[in-house]
Amino acid sequence: MGPLDRYRSVLGDEEIETIRQLARPLAGAVVQHVNSTAKGGGVAEILGGLVPLMRDAGMEVDWDVMEGDARFFAVTKAIHNALHGVPAEVTGEMVQVFEEVTAKNLGLVRRDADFVTIHDPQPVGLVRARDRGRARWLWRCHIDLSDADPRVWALLRDDVERFDAAVFHLADYAQALSIPQFMIMPAIDAFSEKNVELPPEEVRSVLERFGIDPRRPVVLQVSRFDRLKDPLGVVRAYQLARTWHDCQLVLAGGGASDDPEGERVLQEVVEAVGGDPDIHVLSLPPESHRTINALQRGATVIVQKSLREGFGLVVTEAMWKGKPVVGGAVGGIRRQIIHGTTGFLVHSVEGTAFRIRQILTNPGLAHRLGESAQQYVRGSFLLPAYLKQWILALLAARHGGRGVSYLER
Ligand code: UDP
Repeated sequence: MGPLDRYRSVLGDEEIETIRQLARPLAGAVVQHVNSTAKGGGVAEILGGLVPLMRDAGMEVDWDVMEGDARFFAVTKAIHNALHGVPAEVTGEMVQVFEEVTAKNLGLVRRDADFVTIHDPQPVGLVRARDRGRARWLWRCHIDLSDADPRVWALLRDDVERFDAAVFHLADYAQALSIPQFMIMPAIDAFSEKNVELPPEEVRSVLERFGIDPRRPVVLQVSRFDRLKDPLGVVRAYQLARTWHDCQLVLAGGGASDDPEGERVLQEVVEAVGGDPDIHVLSLPPESHRTINALQRGATVIVQKSLREGFGLVVTEAMWKGKPVVGGAVGGIRRQIIHGTTGFLVHSVEGTAFRIRQILTNPGLAHRLGESAQQYVRGSFLLPAYLKQWILALLAARHGGRGVSYLER
């Protein structure tokens, strides 16, 4: 059974048939995705699921990763932070590094592509190769641009306007651009190693492997060691919550090849934790999907205390597993969590501690939040919904951005 048909059991036949029908005009279309890392982080995660689904829907799909060196990724990390509204300096020298690496990667673009979709700012300059082919070009931005540093955004803008369309997660992130903009919220793959159901014994044995006691409550945050995920804030919230209720904290994460800051942040976290035996800082290799799945399933409360977040895939992963989530009230998390119904939104360390405690002391509430969360993900945040919107975006881009799509019988 193909990856799209597997969803019949979750979403019903009608939904899958609708998607197949929408995709029919794209049969055989060559779609090339380009991003900057094959592993680690949300973009790689989502492409790993989307690409097979697009293929199953009849398109010929390639996923290519641009090549960059440490200097380039230091520059693009500064750009990334500045676009998230965090002060970061981008000097003329840095722009030159960006230009050089862009020029070296232009050959990556497939001349026979019908659609080229470029993910995030790192490969945005590849659009300069667009006159080599006939493709429609889409820029898929995974960042919350609502507070972007205008000087840094101005550096990218000319390239962005060479695309046929830009795709953002939320309307809040839309920019004043001369090209059409589409809004598509990301989704997760219910059947991936990260999200598939696991036997309880496996969950228990993963917890025990890391020295976590499965009989005591577990508070978990999974994320790259990145300051914008506020791991130190999570440690403080946990320390506060623990004064009211016994629990353990697990901070699990790894790096991404396009994120040079991970090691430093991990070090800061390890120092902040000291020797506390109830805080487990796990630095995991990039392919630890099943381990992360087990940790999420073994957790009592899942926290994602981000300070900025385009869209938190980990939040959706936790919700799909029926877990109550406490999430920072920022970016896409504000759309993922319906406060008080599918989880809680928080604005501070104290607020995070309060909600952790509220959930730990009230298993009935935890259960209700988790059930609603799972239902919400089923309705809106599984990959077929994402594929459907991508199909519409590609069709609209093909029709000159006029938003035209049609059904064929
Ligand atoms: N992830 C992972 N290993 C890690 C940390 C994160 O596999 O050590 C996964 C996580 O499960 C999620 C994705 O990477 O699927 C992170 O996506 P999210 O949108 O939450 O954050 P991003 O890293 O893109 O900022």
